[in-house]
Amino acid sequence: MAEHETSANSDRWHLLTSASCGVNKISDTHHLQSLNMSYALVWLKRDLRWHDHEAFTQASKQGPIRCIYVIEPEMWLQPDAALQHFEFICESLQDLDEHLRSQGGQVEIHHGDMVTVLSAIWRDAPFIGMFSHEETGNGWTYSRDLKVADWCQHEGVPWHEFRQFGVVRGLKNRDLLQRKWERHMHMPQSNVEKLRFWRPAGLGSLTIHAPAHLKHNPPQRQLGGRKLALKTLHSFLHARSIGYRGGISSPLSAPDACSRLSAYLTYGCISMREVVQQTRDQLAQLPPQAARQRAGLTGFLSRLHWHCHFIQKLEIEPAIQWRNMHLGYDGLREQDFNVEYFEALKNARTGWPMVDACVVMLRETGWLNFRMRAMLVSVAAYPLWLHWRQVGDWLATQFLDYEPGIHWSQMQMQSGTTGINTTRVYNPIKQAQDHDPHGYFVKRWLPRMRHVPPAWIFQPWLIPLETAISSDKDIEIVPPVVDLATAMRDSKQRLHQRRQIPKVKGGKKEVIERHASRQKFNPNFKPLRQQNEDKQQLGFDF
Ligand SMILES: Cc1cc2nc3c(=O)[nH]c(=O)nc-3n(C[C@H](O)[C@H](O)[C@H](O)COP(=O)(O)OP(=O)(O)OC[C@H]3O[C@@H](n4cnc5c(N)ncnc54)[C@H](O)[C@@H]3O)c2cc1C
Repeated sequence: MAEHETSANSDRWHLLTSASCGVNKISDTHHLQSLNMSYALVWLKRDLRWHDHEAFTQASKQGPIRCIYVIEPEMWLQPDAALQHFEFICESLQDLDEHLRSQGGQVEIHHGDMVTVLSAIWRDAPFIGMFSHEETGNGWTYSRDLKVADWCQHEGVPWHEFRQFGVVRGLKNRDLLQRKWERHMHMPQSNVEKLRFWRPAGLGSLTIHAPAHLKHNPPQRQLGGRKLALKTLHSFLHARSIGYRGGISSPLSAPDACSRLSAYLTYGCISMREVVQQTRDQLAQLPPQAARQRAGLTGFLSRLHWHCHFIQKLEIEPAIQWRNMHLGYDGLREQDFNVEYFEALKNARTGWPMVDACVVMLRETGWLNFRMRAMLVSVAAYPLWLHWRQVGDWLATQFLDYEPGIHWSQMQMQSGTTGINTTRVYNPIKQAQDHDPHGYFVKRWLPRMRHVPPAWIFQPWLIPLETAISSDKDIEIVPPVVDLATAMRDSKQRLHQRRQIPKVKGGKKEVIERHASRQKFNPNFKPLRQQNEDKQQLGFDF
């Protein structure tokens, strides 16, 4: 498949490297210092912390640092942007700023296009070099980074980027990913005892206004900042992880049982290495009788691997934000997008109580556990037969922890367009019976279900008319948007037919080569104990 070859060649490292090949190395900075460049510029992106921050550490070796965050209006116009992301970033910046001020520094907030801001800073007070973390972001941040690299090359400004996670830029051989991940997580956390700062003269204060068009800030979402990230990690490692194994699938127990670290990892309020090392320390200290918690923390650690494993897919192939990972699935759903079904889903009016309750919880809190996210996407992709692109943009704005690499890979995986994963079609009625047998979750998030008698809680449309009428309470029955059994059967058939096409079968090998986990095939890799919940999330069927 010729187009596949093109996509494999268009990995972001390739483009970034060629754009920045003229950029100076750290060792080239002496001549710049002699030109009276007296500080190193730290560009904060999605790394809003002060501890284990390689950009701070390396920049401070060069001289005093100046720390900027740039609010880029165009970034916030992208369809995956939401007010909750903006607010979470502001909270995290405030926390970071407080910390830096206690050391005599601050976070400078700038507003505008990154290259324009950089040019102005450079013109007013040239710097030794720019320091930041690598970002595997959406298509917009990727092309912004290319422009920044161009600018750096043109001006002769060294731009030093450091690894943020266990994601490897320019990875030539995916077999090495596991080893490189381990090496990164084993390295000591970087910390500078006392940072020295450079402050421009005449810095005024800036009131930050959220872009007016941005919508969606769930009233019950988690708040940003490193202090809260540490508190969340502590309560998970020392108490809540007891409920992890067995507690993460039901939306009733998951909010407590899961670590709830995702948004803090997405915005870098805490480093992945810090989380991995603290988890391993805690595991080592557990007494032998703490088997349940040990199982929980082991399962948690394997998800931290997956975090990077999934982001690596977008790092290798940025186009998976827009197009099918396996091109053989092109044209499968594109022409059938039913706007009414999509509206029903977004407005919690599909009629399936578990689905609608999840949409409301997400709207109110910005978070859902993995299984319920997978169920939402599966319902969108199969019975409603909606393409993952539009659904993915909507969900990106709903998830506080929106991490493009995980998000788009999961959107495709749950929609069956990777071509390499087990097709998992979640039945929303069965999910409700398994994970909310008494209907507590559904009643909590869907007021219209509160007075539906238990016998009809999973399928309220079956309630006899006379029962509904005779009830003295308000009962609103939303009929299912499609007949579930028929729609599921038809959609599975359509997917199955596509899978049987020889060209589609043949294209699978290439996707495996590029994106699949090598854990099964690497003789040196010692797999973590694969438990049931793990298998439900990964489990490649090749
Ligand atoms: C359609 C879909 C979209 C998703 N989008 C995102 C997203 O944008 N951002 C995001 O962080 N997670 C995403 N996930 C994965 C998962 O649902 C969340 O990471 C998890 O629910 C976050 O809660 P937690 O931190 O308490 O998770 P925990 O279970 O405590 O896991 C700890 C960490 O491991 C990582 N992780 C957990 N599960 C997965 C997984 N299946 N794949 C990759 N990494 C994982 C996350 O970084 C998470 O914070 C998505 C899942 C689906 C099905």
